[in-house]
Amino acid sequence: MVKNEDLFKKIVSHCKEYGFVYPSSEIYDGLAAVYDYGPNGVELKNNIRDYWWKSMVQLNENIVGLDAAIFMHPTVWKASGHVEAFKDPLIDNKDSKKRYRADILIEDHIAKLEEKINKEIEKAKKRFGDKFDEKMFRETNPRVLNTQNKIDDITKRFADLTNNNDLKGLRALIEELQIACPVSGSRNWTDVRQFNLMFSTQMGSLIDEAGSVFLRPETAQGIFVNYINVQKTSRKKLPFGIAQIGKAFRNEIVARQFIFRMREFEQMEMQYFIKPGEEAKWYEYWKEQRMKWHLALGIPAGKFRLHDHDKLAHYAKAAADIQYEFPFGFKEVEGIHSRTDFDLTAHQKFSGKKQQYYDPDTKESYVPYVVETSIGLDRMFLAILANSYYEETLDDGSQRVVLRIPPLAAPVKVTILPLVKKDGLPEKARQITDKIKNDFMCQYDEKDAIGRRYRRQDAIGTPYCITIDHQTLDDDTVTIRERDSMKQERISIEKISEIVCERINTNV
Ligand code: ATP
Repeated sequence: MVKNEDLFKKIVSHCKEYGFVYPSSEIYDGLAAVYDYGPNGVELKNNIRDYWWKSMVQLNENIVGLDAAIFMHPTVWKASGHVEAFKDPLIDNKDSKKRYRADILIEDHIAKLEEKINKEIEKAKKRFGDKFDEKMFRETNPRVLNTQNKIDDITKRFADLTNNNDLKGLRALIEELQIACPVSGSRNWTDVRQFNLMFSTQMGSLIDEAGSVFLRPETAQGIFVNYINVQKTSRKKLPFGIAQIGKAFRNEIVARQFIFRMREFEQMEMQYFIKPGEEAKWYEYWKEQRMKWHLALGIPAGKFRLHDHDKLAHYAKAAADIQYEFPFGFKEVEGIHSRTDFDLTAHQKFSGKKQQYYDPDTKESYVPYVVETSIGLDRMFLAILANSYYEETLDDGSQRVVLRIPPLAAPVKVTILPLVKKDGLPEKARQITDKIKNDFMCQYDEKDAIGRRYRRQDAIGTPYCITIDHQTLDDDTVTIRERDSMKQERISIEKISEIVCERINTNV
C-alpha cells in the first residue's frame, strides 16, 4: 500500500507522465489552478460524462438534456444572488503572506478533531477485538465525548457566524481555536474579508459597465432561465428534470490540491422541478439515487459518506454533500440541494416574465420547487484515479503500477498485442483491431517485449489485453488478459467483442 501523503503526489505525476492531466500552458510555467486533459484523460473524462448522462437522461423518461451558453445576461447573476452573495471569506497570514479561506481553516480544524476520535476508536478496536461496540464506546468514553462536544460546539458557532455573515466573529473563532498558518506556523492573522468568486469580462466593443458579463460560476442558472422553454417544448409534467454538463468558472482564493479545486472546471447538474411540498421526499430520493450511481462504479462504499450541511448556501433550504475519501481526507464530490422556488421566483421578479407551471391535475398555477444534484466532473475524475492507483510487486519480484479504473470508465478498453513483430502476427493483429475498434476504444501496440507492453497498459488502466501468437494463425484464437488478476484465457476471435462488452458494462 502507498502511504496517503505519497499517494497524492504519485497520482499527480502519474497523470502527467501517462497523458491524463497536464498543467495548463506549461511551457509558460502554467496557470494557477487551470489544467488540460491529455489523450487518456479526455477519454476517462468522456466516459464519466457518458455514464452520468446515460443514468440521468437515457434512463429517466422524465429527464431531458440542455446545453446552455456560458455567457448569460448579467441580470441573471443579480437575480440568482451571485453578485451579492457568491463570496468566500478570506484571511491572510501576515508572516507567510499566504491567503486562506477562513471557513476551510475552521473545517480543517474540525476534521483534525474527528481524526482524533477515529484514532481512539481504532485503538479500542484493537484492544477489545470482536467484543468492541463502537456506538457504546462513542457514547461513554470520556475522551471521545469531550472531543465530540468540542466538535458540536465549534460546528454550531461556525454555522451561526457564517449564516449571519459575521466576519469579525470568524476571525475571533480562528484565534480562539489557536489555528496556525501551516506555512509560517504563526497565528498572526489579518481581518476576514469577503471575496466575490465570479470572473467578469467585456462583451462587444464598449468597455463600460453595460458591456460587462460574467463567466458562469455554476451551470444551474442556464437551466432555470430555460425551464419554461424546455417544459413547453418537451411537454413535460411535474415532476421532471433538466440535465446539463458544462464548464463553470470560479476565481477560487485558495486553489490547491490539483484538479480538486480549479478555476475552470466542469459540472454535471440536474435540476428536478417538483410540486411545492414534495421537496423532502425528492431530496431524500435523489440523495439515495446519487449514492447508488457512485457505488455502481465499484468503488467501495466505505470510501463515500453523506454529510449534511450546517452552513447553507444562499439559495438552499437543505443540502448534503456526497464526500469521497481523497488522500487528503473526506471531501465533497457532489452536492444535493433543496433549492425551493428561490431561483425561479427571483427570475420571475427580475425579468417580469411569469415562471409558473399550470398543473393540469389540480388546475392551479404555481412556481415549482427544485431539488438539484450537482457533481464536479473533475473531482469525480480525481476520485476514480485516487481509488485506482496501486503499486504491486509481482510473483517474479518485478514491480507494476496498475490503475484499477472501473472498466466502464477506462480510457482504452482493449489493447491488441502481436507477441512478436514478425511471422505475420502484426498483420493478423491489425486485422483484429480493425474488426473490433468499432465497438470500443482500442489500441494497437507492437513495440517492446510483451511484459513491458503489459506494464504500459496496466499504467493507464486498460482492462483487457488481447495477445496474438502463432497459434492464432492456426485456429483463430487469442489470449485475453485481465488487468487486475492478470489471468489469461484463450478465446476465439469471434467472441472478443461480445466478451469485452459484457464485462465492461455497468448498470446503474
Ligand atoms: P466547495 O465547498 O468545495 O468549494 P461548493 O460547495 O462550492 O464546493 P457547489 O457549488 O455545490 O460546490 O458545486 C457543485 C460541485 O461542483 C461540487 O460538488 C464540486 O464537485 C464541483 N466544484 C465546485 N467548485 C469546484 C472547483 N473549484 N473545482 C472543481 N470542482 C468544483
